[in-house]
Amino acid sequence: MSLSSEELTRYSRNILLNGVGRKGQEKIKSSIVSIIGLGGLGSPTALYLSAAGVGELRIIDSDVVDLTNLQRQILYTTNSQNYSKAEVAQKKLTELNDKILIKQFNTRITKDNINEILQGSHLVLEGSDNFETKFLVNDFCVLNSLPLLVAGILRFEGQVLGIIPNQTACYRCTFPEMPGADSIPNCAEAGVLGSVAGIVGSIQATEALKYLVFGESEIFGKILNCDFYNLEIRKIQRKRNKNCPICGDTKKYFTLEHHGEIDRNCKI
Ligand SMILES: [Zn+2]
Repeated sequence: MSLSSEELTRYSRNILLNGVGRKGQEKIKSSIVSIIGLGGLGSPTALYLSAAGVGELRIIDSDVVDLTNLQRQILYTTNSQNYSKAEVAQKKLTELNDKILIKQFNTRITKDNINEILQGSHLVLEGSDNFETKFLVNDFCVLNSLPLLVAGILRFEGQVLGIIPNQTACYRCTFPEMPGADSIPNCAEAGVLGSVAGIVGSIQATEALKYLVFGESEIFGKILNCDFYNLEIRKIQRKRNKNCPICGDTKKYFTLEHHGEIDRNCKI
């Protein structure tokens, strides 16, 4: 996919990078990336990937903007309150870069609509605030061989996990059981520093761009644990779990129809 002279100028600082060049920028332009959750993580990832020239972004969120979001969700302003995050984000991202296609989905991702929304993506970025979505997206991506970056934030901390299905540990290999609704506090209960969301989302965007250009990135097969209170960042190798019900040797489930069943019945 060739670049216009305007695009060569717009993306010149990418193109100057060793190993990126015009070819790398063309790869970015021909990529389709889906971003699930347009909150503290989805805001920086969507902004940076739009600015970088990802050819097609699919952005998914069912929420409307509220006042408590504005401390960290940098896609939105005070005037965005009560409007759909997906719709406001599409407008904002198009203002930033009108050379790319932004498809917005003002809906919660479910096992009934996930195929329609994510199919054809080259990479999926998960940054929602709930485990149900994280497990569902993991299962879909593993079953459909879509590379996935899952991120989470809480208080002063963040995590990013990179998954190449059937090659590296999946989210279920790493977190075998979905935590109960009350066992882990969320940002609404325990708080989160806005700038932490910015850093962790930016790490997700950086790893995404490296993957799109180079076909690999250091994050895959690893979990990056970031503790910004103590300013400690650790990269930990994750092993595949041979008993994982979705990607292990003895995997039992081959379709998303079983997705809820795994979480109700399966201890691994
Ligand atoms: Zn697995």
